[in-house]
Amino acid sequence: MTIAESLEDLRTKIGPKATLIAVSKTKPVELLMEAYDADQRHFGENKIQEMAQKYEVMPKDIHWHMIGHIQTNKIKYMASFVHLVHGVDRSKVLAALNKEAAKLGRIIDCTLQVHIAQEDTKFGFDLDELAEVVQTLGQYPNVRVRGLMGMATFTDDHTQIREEFTALHNAFETYGPDRGWEVLSMGMSGDYEIALACGATHLRIGSSIFGARNYSA
Ligand SMILES: *Cc1c(COP(=O)(O)O)cnc(C)c1O
Repeated sequence: MTIAESLEDLRTKIGPKATLIAVSKTKPVELLMEAYDADQRHFGENKIQEMAQKYEVMPKDIHWHMIGHIQTNKIKYMASFVHLVHGVDRSKVLAALNKEAAKLGRIIDCTLQVHIAQEDTKFGFDLDELAEVVQTLGQYPNVRVRGLMGMATFTDDHTQIREEFTALHNAFETYGPDRGWEVLSMGMSGDYEIALACGATHLRIGSSIFGARNYSA
């Protein structure tokens, strides 16, 4: 399938309920432009400088999503243009985003990353830490938390994936209504259908659109 066909196929499966973020990390601008020409406007990257380089050369009506782990000293490279920072996983990132956003007189939108997987390699607040950090958000007037983000365990066990996404959805329902949250970012190529069924509003899908990634390149 071409990129345009893959996008069309995904849009049909997803329907209007969720926003499809095309995860383009490691992929060259030519391939992103193929997606753009097929009307894709939300792109996700996991390295700040790679995203900033692509932002420079691509059309300016793209919404750029930072979905990776955040190094606070790099926030300055994306602070002026980033649409949504998904992987906020510690208070230090909130403070650093707030500082860079304040310098520019803007508000940066983000989601708090929650650790729902059994693997301990995945970042994020655990549920106890989440309960604490949501009480502190008033300290960051130039950051607006819009919801939650999470990654399920990499497994074929659909029951487990569903349990993990359900836990994230429950947290979203616990804290979201009082705070006007509207983003529940969960689901990737392998598990987005489960995520959708569990209430995802934003799907982060890479390899099903652009093909497998080659990290050795
Ligand atoms: C790479 C990545 C994705 C997309 O993964 P695919 O399996 O290629 O769809 C989604 N979310 C995050 C945080 C990622 O790093």
